[in-house]
Amino acid sequence: MGSEDRGFDVDKIRADFPILRTKMNGKPLIYLDSAATSQKPRQVIGSIDDYYKNYNANIHRGIYRISEKATEEYVQSKEKVARLINASGKEEIIYVKNTTEAINLAALSWGYANINKGDHILISEMEHHSNMVPWMVLSKRKGAVLDYISLDKSNSKLDVGSFEKMLEKRPKIVAVTHVSNVLGTINDVREIIKKAHKNGAMVLIDGAQSVPHMKINVKEMNPDFFAFSAHKMLGPTGIGVLYAKADILNEMEPLMTGGDMIKSVRYNSYTWNDLPWKFEAGTANIADGIAFGAAIDYLNGLGMERIRGHEKRLTRYALERLSEVKGVKFYGPGIKELESKGGVVAFAVGNIHPHDVAQIFDSEGIAIRAGHHCAMPLVTQRLNQAALSRISFYIYNKESEIDAAVNAIEKVKKIFKMS
Ligand code: PMP
Repeated sequence: MGSEDRGFDVDKIRADFPILRTKMNGKPLIYLDSAATSQKPRQVIGSIDDYYKNYNANIHRGIYRISEKATEEYVQSKEKVARLINASGKEEIIYVKNTTEAINLAALSWGYANINKGDHILISEMEHHSNMVPWMVLSKRKGAVLDYISLDKSNSKLDVGSFEKMLEKRPKIVAVTHVSNVLGTINDVREIIKKAHKNGAMVLIDGAQSVPHMKINVKEMNPDFFAFSAHKMLGPTGIGVLYAKADILNEMEPLMTGGDMIKSVRYNSYTWNDLPWKFEAGTANIADGIAFGAAIDYLNGLGMERIRGHEKRLTRYALERLSEVKGVKFYGPGIKELESKGGVVAFAVGNIHPHDVAQIFDSEGIAIRAGHHCAMPLVTQRLNQAALSRISFYIYNKESEIDAAVNAIEKVKKIFKMS
């Protein structure tokens, strides 16, 4: 597979993932759907178990030992997130449910306060619904104009000319994905942010598909908002992050109000709590927040650069193997553009419906995704497909699983009598 990283021991990693020992339809599970959600190592599962068994208590409140420990662990997990993305500190890390909620928080709080009638909002044609619908709704309610950066002719990258032209409309905010969950495209967000700032726009980056797979440095990248989900990076479901610069968060109003997010309340007045708590009303998702910290420890143990290296090797191998199969068309950057492709490969097998493809994969014990991947405008309007099949990789995947996927495609072709 070329430039092998011998220290990246996939078999050792796999031993930490109990689910990888299970079977699906009588076959050993081959999990190629990490872009939807990642599997969880025993360290993360164990962290949830440990909290509930040994120190389950509400945080920020109790003056007793197990509550103090729960608070410490929860706060520590935020500090781990801050270090992982090189934020200034936990003040800039708002815990929400997922990427979707993070983007909604930015749109509903910052957006509602700052976007007015006739203003422009700029997103791209490759956005996930999570980074599209909130801006559609906001622009409709506020009478703002939603513009799109179009894809280039190859349908795999954002068109720089289109971006620059749209910037002339002086958008209030530019919201784009770092890595496309369909095409795998890694957008040059540093350049996008630089140009957007120069034109007076704020920038939100959807990091759902980048934070789990590569080293992120928000100080260098310089987004105003950055959103991602724990469940795609070995962590539990139900916890995600809105990062924003502290001065922006200080200006923003919370969406949810009630307990924990206030400093003081009198019958006729209130003051907000300090960051990040101002945005976290009510009892937090304590167990999952703490387990998110365990997920970050696990990723750091491997090293984000090595994770990216492993996935790049797998992606190269997958593109090589898939290009040998007649009738398979894949989307997004190709083998010559691996630097700008994450571990996501969407493909079509002739005209066979992707749901049939996925069902045959399932009978072989292989989990893949088929559909519009929550990017309906991209798949149906831009790529002109009803649906696509998609394989995606993570730390526990290996070449032999890609071989199994290629064999499954051959089986699909045989069943559908495709030559
Ligand atoms: N953006 C992108 C690029 C995604 O891939 C996803 C998840 N598929 C999301 C946003 C939404 O993430 P979540 O469902 O965790 O809110």
